[in-house]
Amino acid sequence: MSVQEREIEEIVRKVLEELSSAGSKPQSSSGHGIFLEMNDAIAAAESAQKELIKLSLAERGKIIESIRKAAIESAELFAQMAVEETGMGKYQDKVRKNILAAEKSPGIEDLKTESFSGDNGLTVVELSAYGVIGSITPTTNPTETIICNSIGMIAAGNSVVYSPHPTAKKTSIKAIEVLNKAIVAAGGPNNVITTVQEPTIEQANIMMKHKKIKLLVATGGPGVVKAVLSSGKKAIGAGAGNPPAVVDETADLEKAAKDIIDGCSFDNNLPCVAEKEVIVVEKVADYLVSYMKKNGAFLITSKEQIEQLTELVVDKGHANKNFVGKDVAYILRQIGIDAPADARVAIMNVEGNHPLVSAELMMPILPIVRVKDVDAAIDLAVEVEHGFRHTAIMHSKNVDNLTKFAKAIQTTIFVKNGPSYAGIGFGGEGYTTFTIAGPTGEGLTSAKNFARRRKCVLVDGLSIR
Ligand code: NAD
Repeated sequence: MSVQEREIEEIVRKVLEELSSAGSKPQSSSGHGIFLEMNDAIAAAESAQKELIKLSLAERGKIIESIRKAAIESAELFAQMAVEETGMGKYQDKVRKNILAAEKSPGIEDLKTESFSGDNGLTVVELSAYGVIGSITPTTNPTETIICNSIGMIAAGNSVVYSPHPTAKKTSIKAIEVLNKAIVAAGGPNNVITTVQEPTIEQANIMMKHKKIKLLVATGGPGVVKAVLSSGKKAIGAGAGNPPAVVDETADLEKAAKDIIDGCSFDNNLPCVAEKEVIVVEKVADYLVSYMKKNGAFLITSKEQIEQLTELVVDKGHANKNFVGKDVAYILRQIGIDAPADARVAIMNVEGNHPLVSAELMMPILPIVRVKDVDAAIDLAVEVEHGFRHTAIMHSKNVDNLTKFAKAIQTTIFVKNGPSYAGIGFGGEGYTTFTIAGPTGEGLTSAKNFARRRKCVLVDGLSIR
């Protein structure tokens, strides 16, 4: 064989090799984590995870920093896309939520090692990766959830396959692409987070059944939490809430009114922690309402209009999706009410068993129930929270009342004398999360919840006591 023939043979071999490996490669439509098929999205995430855990913790830390930076830089873009695509929420508040998720979701520092030492040596229990996590995300906080889950899940050494809500698919895909690029820019592998171009419930089902998915995390309503808990896999469920805000006669009413309206109107009430109904002790109710009005609450007094509004926004006991996250002026216009331009929330006096109270509305409609005393307020709040054990808020100066309510309602988040969002670290101490796992008990999830506890035992040595 001449030199020329050998060169030609070598070229042909290389071309054939490239062609055959291209045939078996997952088909990525963007090159940054977005695949046509769910099986390919999972295969790519699995390969990426194997590369990810070869990196040092310091290198993983750099990846997390890069994700934070990219998310902050894209916070406005994500907010704009989410408002446009979902038609819900408020741009400025979504910017704040994205930045909050980027800055205050714990990273690798959350992975604390436990150690035991004694005559028999040294044992450590370390938090190590599950592998590939399947994460189902909501339409109400699409990019915030992706930012916060990516930080926690990757910090723990996992890769993530997302199943975003179909109504927020473009926005979610954008976030996944941006974060993937940030991971690669920091020296990480490509496809540490992936998804499919057309997310649907069917695709989510493929993911839930796939044997390479080792942990499922559902952030959404009762349907999806039930779905992951029935999957036969380890699952974390972050489900619905219906947070009551209780106000007793000892509260600073001016501040309580402002805090409640601030919390309820934030992102047009989309956060699952946001105030959904107020239960107030009768003798201070008028004061509270008057201060609420000073803070942008629009009071509806006509019984007929309250019933019209109920018909409009409650559908078989649940929120009518057409009005979730909409501006209050838009909602009221549908029943012929011209609310002032600066109205932030509509308030109305109703009985405790009213549908506006029992449904998780996720819109700036805030029913107010007057009760005789704090005990009646606590009883009703526990009832209307439906045992979700999600979030409750209380405005009171009486420590005994605060303690009594917190004990009775058993919610994952209990905010005292502040707006609900203080409970997710916005103006309150502590870290943030957009995956609050009440049903499965992890609470405010972070890296440590996305990791397995593994024990390493060194016998007879290294104990220096
Ligand atoms: P949703 O339940 O309609 O959807 C959430 C996600 O689950 C979406 O990706 C959806 O496609 C998927 N999904 C829904 N049913 C499914 C099924 N049977 N099988 C597989 N996937 C399924 O919720 P949403 O409207 O996007 O969000 C609002 C709800 O989520 C509210 O109830 C809110 O309280 C809750 N939420 C809870 C938290 C939390 O941290 N606890 C955070 C955000 C939202």
